[in-house]
Amino acid sequence: MSAVQPQKSKTLALRQPNQNDTLVRINDDVCFGGSKVVLIGGPCAVESLQQISDTAKAVKSAGGVMLRGGAWKPRTSPYDFQGLKEEGLELLHQVKKITGLPVVTEVLDPRDVEKVSAVADMLQIGSRSVQNYPLLKEVGQTRKPILLKRGMMTTVDEWLAAAEYILAEGNDQVVLCERGIRTFETSLRNTLDVGAVAVLKDKTHLPIIVDPSHAAGNFRYVNALARAAVAAGADGLLVETHWRPADALSDASQSLTPEQFRQLADQCRAVAIAVERTL
Ligand code: PEP
Ligand code: MN
Repeated sequence: MSAVQPQKSKTLALRQPNQNDTLVRINDDVCFGGSKVVLIGGPCAVESLQQISDTAKAVKSAGGVMLRGGAWKPRTSPYDFQGLKEEGLELLHQVKKITGLPVVTEVLDPRDVEKVSAVADMLQIGSRSVQNYPLLKEVGQTRKPILLKRGMMTTVDEWLAAAEYILAEGNDQVVLCERGIRTFETSLRNTLDVGAVAVLKDKTHLPIIVDPSHAAGNFRYVNALARAAVAAGADGLLVETHWRPADALSDASQSLTPEQFRQLADQCRAVAIAVERTL
């Protein structure tokens, strides 16, 4: 007798014939996959109460409906700022009470899923974790909406297979996030794969949003990439903005000022209307 389980075919992430789009709801106001493009803004990392609350207020006043901010940061160098961790979570908890904005924040370690879930309305799986299978299984066992970023070196099929790990555990609330991939081109931090948005709208029923900030790496190009994403059919945008970008402890060069964030929101709203959506 063999202990090997028979293989299940990969079907949960793929769109079945005539299958409707999956809607991922955060609360009464925020729903991914419907006609409204979901605008999420906030700093790369949570740094202080003033930084996160002033940034959150700016996000809200520009039309943002969700706050992003990392408490645990996956940094390339172990000597760079790693996030405020539990203290960052506590600040997110406070700013939720102040602004009423739901929060998305990254979870890096399967052992932290429970504690991050106590505060976060949505769990972000970062690019570097897209193939961390124990982490994917752990968040799959929660009933929290998951924001699954594309890895910088994952194909669309590998990315969908990563989503399948979460879906297979019974959590069907998965939103994909294109954030740029590594190519031969170095003029931007990454190459935004706008084509993947169109392909995924076809291949999967899951919502797909775009992070133009980590694709651009430079605040000057974030707005153009965001507009392109909405035009291509993205269900939302995840944009880094900081009350004082020059002081940001991570990703300063790609962070928008509150005024630039407002401009992005206004211009993306116009694009959304042109493609028969709202923002
Ligand atoms: C982030 O969202 O700040 C981040 C680290 O992004 P990524 O995982 O896409 O590099
Ligand atoms: Mn960042």
